[in-house]
Amino acid sequence: MEMRNSPPKSPLHAWDDSALVEELCLALRDVGVENRALPDGEEVRAAILRVKEVSAELVKRGLDCSARITRLSRETAWDMVTLLRDCLAFPEAIPYLASTPAPSCGNCGVEIPRRAILALCEGCIRAGLAQLSAGESDSHLDICPICGRHEKGFLVYAHGLEWMNYCRGCLEEASARYAKA
Ligand SMILES: [Zn+2]
Ligand SMILES: [Zn+2]
Repeated sequence: MEMRNSPPKSPLHAWDDSALVEELCLALRDVGVENRALPDGEEVRAAILRVKEVSAELVKRGLDCSARITRLSRETAWDMVTLLRDCLAFPEAIPYLASTPAPSCGNCGVEIPRRAILALCEGCIRAGLAQLSAGESDSHLDICPICGRHEKGFLVYAHGLEWMNYCRGCLEEASARYAKA
């Protein structure tokens, strides 16, 4: 049995079909297990990217894994068909399970809509952008965990668990997403 934290290093195109399908299932499970960390938890985002990557390879091979995904839904009691669809559409769609409680702002704790792309409410995004425009970033971090840009951003002690350093570009994108609806 393979350890989840030491995935095989070989490139996906070298994997056989059944291993690929199982990898897709494992990545989907990870998205389910880490669902409460949506929308911007690092591990859940990595799992979503893995789903996309493996799925692209399956499509390239013309493999239809819908029967396996249906079985996975039964195994996990989660709607994996919808989860897969939303993972593939990410970040336009965010792959929430129906059973996952509404997400909240990592900074102030208010409930945020499920379409929010960062775990921040509109007010906190605005406050963050204002702080950056005033050149007042007090961040001790200089990389944005969302996009990887090297930049001192808006520092949030997200949900009292980890420091997030949201860059201006990510805040602007999140703000535009709020404005769109
Ligand atoms: Zn807030
Ligand atoms: Zn960013």
